[in-house]
Amino acid sequence: MNLSYGRPYLAIPGPSVMPDEVLRAMHRASPNIYEGALIDMVAGMMPDLKRVAGTVHDAAIYISNGHGAWEAALSNVLAPGDRILVPATGRFGHGWAEMADGLGADTQLIDFGRNRPFDLNRIEEALRADKDHRIKAVLASHVDTSSGVRNDIAGLRKLLDQIGHPALLMADCIASLACDRFEMDAWGVDVTVAASQKGLMTPPGLGFVFFGPRAAEARAGLDRVSRYWDWTPRANPEMFYQYFGGTAPTHHLFGLRAALDMIHAEGIDHVWRRHDVLARAIWAAADTWASDGPLRLNVADPDHRARSVTSLRLGLPYGAQLRDWVETNAGVTLGIGLGMSEDGDPQGRGFFRIGHMGHLNAHMVLGMLGSIDTAFKALNVPHGRGALDAAATVMAQD
Ligand SMILES: *Cc1c(COP(=O)(O)O)cnc(C)c1O
Repeated sequence: MNLSYGRPYLAIPGPSVMPDEVLRAMHRASPNIYEGALIDMVAGMMPDLKRVAGTVHDAAIYISNGHGAWEAALSNVLAPGDRILVPATGRFGHGWAEMADGLGADTQLIDFGRNRPFDLNRIEEALRADKDHRIKAVLASHVDTSSGVRNDIAGLRKLLDQIGHPALLMADCIASLACDRFEMDAWGVDVTVAASQKGLMTPPGLGFVFFGPRAAEARAGLDRVSRYWDWTPRANPEMFYQYFGGTAPTHHLFGLRAALDMIHAEGIDHVWRRHDVLARAIWAAADTWASDGPLRLNVADPDHRARSVTSLRLGLPYGAQLRDWVETNAGVTLGIGLGMSEDGDPQGRGFFRIGHMGHLNAHMVLGMLGSIDTAFKALNVPHGRGALDAAATVMAQD
């Protein structure tokens, strides 16, 4: 029986669900880009955007996705030949490193695999071995969206300070901003990269780079920076067009304004707590399924899991079948396994991901978990019983 008619639910790790408030804010005629509401709105929005990242320093907006924000951030601090250190904990760490390679960086990558956070002791070894301080920046994913690993960014800053290494700390928060606790200034992060379509609940198309004084100094020390990626005029524009290096992304900005209003009305601490409770409910369901059958959570230790995305392994043929079933029969779209190839499954189709970021509440999560539970039964996949009971218990207790 096909029970998918009704509002579909995109439970993938970005783009995320767009609130009606965001959609309504975008549904309007083209605005005047020389004067009036749009211009007034953008200046007022920048402090609210920075507040989500926990910084009082500078922010630049790009018309780009997360990949563009990656390149923007690197373009302002690296010259060809500069060395960077990348502790990778999944596909996205490798992706940012490849972006740096493309810009001529001398990349030193430490691969921590696909189901563990980075190990500060191994990073310490690499930094201590760099006696003449050639490493200019450390590129760290706060949350790696492929593996579902969450890394200790504040711990990385403590390590750099402890051993007196001057490298910039650059954090990829594309999958964690407004989902998982992140405090740029308090944690001593020099550059934070984010994008609009995950925790910020706005369509893909805006990339954000937040940068502190040490990063601004690195930018000032470069001989040249590509005009388009240069963050200086964007962060402190004299003319409105300089915010965006050209025409403003008009409708995205109205959508973002609505999303920021929602985040600040809820309160960022509550936003983080909501994501935490909903994530733990999902894990409680997954632990129950896993108690009797092939399902496994990719990251064993809950302390090292993202509050915005969970990667699960069901193996072949079940992984791909489950995604198909919930999409076709229940109206829920789950994320593919990304970068999770393994022997006998080069495309990682035995894995799937649940995106739980942004505009998300208890009934959406319970409905999504219930749909997966139904798929287990419809497909005759062995599984532990009582997953929804376990999820409801977590929500009820918090
Ligand atoms: C989504 C994501 C990216 C890439 O963003 P795109 O918008 O797809 O280019 C990079 N890093 C992380 C951690 C992400 O979650």
